[in-house]
Amino acid sequence: MIQDLGAGHAFDNHFEPNEPADSDYLLHFFAGGCLTRVTHVGGTDADAGDSGEVIELPRAADYARRPTQATYLFSLGEERFFLALDERVAAPAGFAYESVNWLRRAEPAHLLFAAATASQLDRWYRENRYCGRCGAPTELAPASREIVCPECARIVYPKICPGVICAVVRLGDDPADDAVVLTRYAGRTTALWALVAGFTEIGEPLEDTVRREVMEEVGLSVKNLRFYKSQPWSFTDTLMVGFWCEVDGSSELAVDHSELKEARWFTRSEMPLERVGDRASLTGEMIERFRTMGRAAWE
Ligand SMILES: [Zn+2]
Repeated sequence: MIQDLGAGHAFDNHFEPNEPADSDYLLHFFAGGCLTRVTHVGGTDADAGDSGEVIELPRAADYARRPTQATYLFSLGEERFFLALDERVAAPAGFAYESVNWLRRAEPAHLLFAAATASQLDRWYRENRYCGRCGAPTELAPASREIVCPECARIVYPKICPGVICAVVRLGDDPADDAVVLTRYAGRTTALWALVAGFTEIGEPLEDTVRREVMEEVGLSVKNLRFYKSQPWSFTDTLMVGFWCEVDGSSELAVDHSELKEARWFTRSEMPLERVGDRASLTGEMIERFRTMGRAAWE
């Protein structure tokens, strides 16, 4: 998944009040895009996740005119990442603003993760320049990742919205009849088959989010919820929490067509292969796990 970075790229977001050195990464975002240099090296199979795109992110020394305001973000192994908070910067040669979400199959994976995570922090910094309580201009805390209001002492922490991914399964008398509900969103151009998913509401435990979302989207009651894994999904400020669950009672689907284009049961042999190369998402991992492992997927 996108946060699985491998040896040498361990994620460390302990805040360090440093200035960027020439060799440190210094990222900048504008209108939702991240300054990126993209090269195409010839992918072999775009459907399998090999887009053939290689990305580079700018280092401080790449800027002919250094941005004036920078804050430390995090480290991946020995590499440090900073964020330029200037409204506009002069883009280094060869770099342009690219959609991080669009690039999510590019290599190397750790720079993609860095750009995605930085985009979440960039939104947070830009959306909290004024205090939501008293309206005064805010300031960055000098030694911690906090935005503080000098007038009323309000502290703002980074925004993380929990949501759930629900793999709803139906167990057959014969394991070959085991099936999972896959859904497709309405109104999206890249509508891959996915799992039931949704955001947690105020006052709601995650388990209730699972029960509510499954009922709302496909009209099923569920039981035997099992936590699987969680995944930061910075593109939407989200922490996704994956659950396996079993249908409880009728397995007849009642699809919410305001949100979904379609939903249906798939046995393992019927499942589409479009997620085989999805290395980024928890949804893709859970779908592939059920297709290849069946009920051993959660045991
Ligand atoms: Zn205030």
